[in-house]
Amino acid sequence: MITSAELKEKYLSFFEHNGHRRIASASLIPDNDPTVLFTTAGMHPLVPFLLGEKHPGGNRLTDAQKCIRTGDIDEVGDSWHLTFFEMLGNWSLGDYFKKEAIEMSFKFLTKELNIPIEKLAVSCFIGEPENNIPKDDEAAQVWLSLGIPTERVAFLGRDDNWWGPAGQTGPCGPDTEMFYWSLNEPTPKTFDPKDKGWVEIWNDVFMQYNKTSTGSYEELKQKNVDTGMGLERTTAILNGQSSVYETDLFAPIIETISSLTKNNDQRAIRIIADHLRAATFIVGDEKGIEPSNIEHGYVLRRLIRRAIRYGKILGINSPFTFKIAEVIIERYKTDYPELKKNQDFIIEQFVREEERFTLTLEKGLKEFEKISTKNISGYDAFVLFTTYGFPLEVTKELATERGIAVDEDGFNEEFKKHQDLSRTASAGKFKGGLADHSEQTTKLHTATHLTLAALRKVLGDHVYQKGSNITAERMRLDFSHPDKMTPEQIRQVEDLVNEQIKKSVDVTCEEVDLEEAKRRNAMGVFEHKYGDKVKVYTIGDFSCEICGGPHVTNTGIIGHYKILKEEASSAGVRRLKAIVE
Ligand code: ATP
Ligand code: MG
Repeated sequence: MITSAELKEKYLSFFEHNGHRRIASASLIPDNDPTVLFTTAGMHPLVPFLLGEKHPGGNRLTDAQKCIRTGDIDEVGDSWHLTFFEMLGNWSLGDYFKKEAIEMSFKFLTKELNIPIEKLAVSCFIGEPENNIPKDDEAAQVWLSLGIPTERVAFLGRDDNWWGPAGQTGPCGPDTEMFYWSLNEPTPKTFDPKDKGWVEIWNDVFMQYNKTSTGSYEELKQKNVDTGMGLERTTAILNGQSSVYETDLFAPIIETISSLTKNNDQRAIRIIADHLRAATFIVGDEKGIEPSNIEHGYVLRRLIRRAIRYGKILGINSPFTFKIAEVIIERYKTDYPELKKNQDFIIEQFVREEERFTLTLEKGLKEFEKISTKNISGYDAFVLFTTYGFPLEVTKELATERGIAVDEDGFNEEFKKHQDLSRTASAGKFKGGLADHSEQTTKLHTATHLTLAALRKVLGDHVYQKGSNITAERMRLDFSHPDKMTPEQIRQVEDLVNEQIKKSVDVTCEEVDLEEAKRRNAMGVFEHKYGDKVKVYTIGDFSCEICGGPHVTNTGIIGHYKILKEEASSAGVRRLKAIVE
């Protein structure tokens, strides 16, 4: 037996011994990334550094990152896909490349974890002659030299073995994935990637090319390595378990759910375990989220409600989600103290959401009976959502049980129409993607610093940043303050910010010790994220903040600043939206 905690520690200390700096997991809610709602991989919070910014921790990093992939939700219930999971990772920021990365992966798997070569297979990029990208023989050769037999190396295309770029242009490259034979039958001699017995456990991405605006691929100057190993999957395979739900990470959760029902529907039990675990981490995050009908809150709502629906299928008829949350918090409190810290908040949110949904669920089911004589239109699905709180998944599942269809596109259209922010929660939003560091977001990023400083001047020193989110259109800042701002206060904040913009103040960046940053009274919600050295952005004598960037170099180019909205976010937290034009 190896526990998940032992595996995690083995991984991190192995890479530490190989010159990597251990850094903490970032929040599940990306700092300033307009393209996704959640952190989907370990590399996500490191994008600015993969794009060339210097990381205070150096050019070799390792961590265990909490991740959410709502794109995998349909697969949840199978043996290996979760909506929340922990990703172990190691990075080279322009330091080592393919050979060393693969050698370290191989050594970790076969020497540290003692996995027999016999159980392993790998895939490499097949190449795209039309784009002048060669087959990744370089990676394959390293595997062969280490003893992986030729018939266990598969070459696959872009869908499987290529990463990026994040937008239209930028860093991208081939990857190599490592698979483990999970079945209790002899390992097939030849690796067939379509054979479900092979489980992907680790992926090494090689950022080797820059895709230019003309669509061609050039070799990058700074070549990076980004790897990700699933903690749940790897723990399971190392212990000969046939799914992630058998691992010590899930055992107490599954046990508690099972104790509440006589029904043995494993898929339902798994979905409840997965969804409530993801929901617990989302509510309990450093940037705690509440269920709502937009953005993160909507994803959260869908997870909790779908779990409740499966609870009903299992015949669980009294409130239960908070009980599961308690077990999850206990299980994870050592590695993620924020869960324990936010326990009351988590329990409160679960109890309230379950009350709300239970109130309308019965009526909604009756309504569904009425309309389910034929396929469900987008409009009806939307009414089920707005009036009875049925997330689309629930309606879809009910429909599937009756052999009828739901007009999903129609639902999404209705949904979009009613979104106060059109960019958010429509189905397409749940795919991965990366930050758009466009000029406009950079301006808004600096404007966010100015806003925080101005808020503290106008409202007082109790104001701290509680979260922020920036798109190309607007900035959003959550901050601690008990009352609604008066129109006069809003105007004062606008004036202060615009004054700093008019003065064309230089924005300077310095790398200093955390201690030094604290001595300068630098603001910073994420101050412990990156080890000892941190970046401090200073705007004249107006603002000083710990931050990863990016920022404009002078406030003069930001443009006119305007606050669009100031509203309640959660207890004691206000939310402000502003634009620059
Ligand atoms: P798959 O094809 O199996 O969905 P992937 O190619 O999407 O995996 P990567 O994006 O390469 O996975 O992520 C790196 C590692 O993270 C994987 O090798 C796996 O161990 C883990 N992982 C990815 N998605 C999930 C998930 N939904 N649940 C649990 N672990 C996951
Ligand atoms: Mg996947």
